[in-house]
Amino acid sequence: MTMLAVTVGPPTPNSGALEKVPEPDPAEGSIVCETIAVGVDGTDNEIVEGKYGEAPPGTDRLILGHESLGRVLEAPAASGFAPGELVVGFVRRPDPVPCDSCAAGEWDMCRNGLYTERGIKGRHGFLSERFRIEPEFSVKADPSLGRLAVLTEPTSVVAKAWEHVQRIGDRAVWEPRRALVTGAGPLGLLSAMLGRQRGLDVHVLDVVDTELKPSLARDLGATYHAGSLDDVAGMFDVVIDCTGAGPLVFHAIDHLGPDGVMCLTGISPAGRTLPLDVDTLNTQMVLNNNVVFGSVNANRRHYEQAADALSRADRGWLDRLVTRWVPLAAWMEALERRDGDVKTVVEIGRI
Ligand code: BGC
Ligand code: ZN
Repeated sequence: MTMLAVTVGPPTPNSGALEKVPEPDPAEGSIVCETIAVGVDGTDNEIVEGKYGEAPPGTDRLILGHESLGRVLEAPAASGFAPGELVVGFVRRPDPVPCDSCAAGEWDMCRNGLYTERGIKGRHGFLSERFRIEPEFSVKADPSLGRLAVLTEPTSVVAKAWEHVQRIGDRAVWEPRRALVTGAGPLGLLSAMLGRQRGLDVHVLDVVDTELKPSLARDLGATYHAGSLDDVAGMFDVVIDCTGAGPLVFHAIDHLGPDGVMCLTGISPAGRTLPLDVDTLNTQMVLNNNVVFGSVNANRRHYEQAADALSRADRGWLDRLVTRWVPLAAWMEALERRDGDVKTVVEIGRI
């Protein structure tokens, strides 16, 4: 039997194709799923552009897609999963050495870089009619979320960011009140959602001032700012950057209050330079006890936090966050960036 899958041949640019491939290899896990939906993000674009990504060893094609949602077709009785259940597969697998972090299940903190990632680095992804997954690298989704459970992976990335912000804050007595999220893309808006669920006064900054993003932020109970950070008054206990825009990131450090913690989640587009008063920056960070840190990927704990946060979220709000559902046959359109897009998802099966 064969199935349809979107494959790429990294590092060749624009090598993406929808093609027939063999059914998933049993080595990829004992649970067989029919794919319901696969979200796309900037990483997928980079892979298709040939700037990132690695095919599994011994092959030159990689099945794309790392934001999964499947429905179980077959699962061993001992797996804890049953046919019909919704499941989200994790992206990263521990490195084979393993390093201390991977050995402890914290593959998101891998220290030797030898980790693999489904749909990204050395392992096939989920953008196919069916996929397999290991029970130990998957989490069940709340059935009442339906296809919106495809947001679990991006939510896991920001759940980790918030968890680490809190852990850093917990070095001392710390009651954060005001949070700034820079960037109102899917990660920014999901970060804002998690901040509101924590009861914080959340501000969202983006350059876009058209309809949807401001209304999504406001409907969370957050304050939306369009334009410059200079127009946003006051200092913040937490800043989460979801833009990866270097100049904005450094500007935002200026808006960190005493004991403030800032998390960087975005990858920067290019090698921009900036004149920077590094002495003032240093002094300010010392006198404010500030921490600025980077965060990538997520481990089981964060997927569980994400599943829980989505379960508590307003379904109508999540539904508006996904601005385009694209059928598998039109997968190329899913990678286009269109005006008004927030999150784009390839819809493969029906619930
Ligand atoms: C994924 C992460 C992954 C990162 C780097 C992101 O798009 O969401 O899980 O670790 O890319 O490959
Ligand atoms: Zn490791």
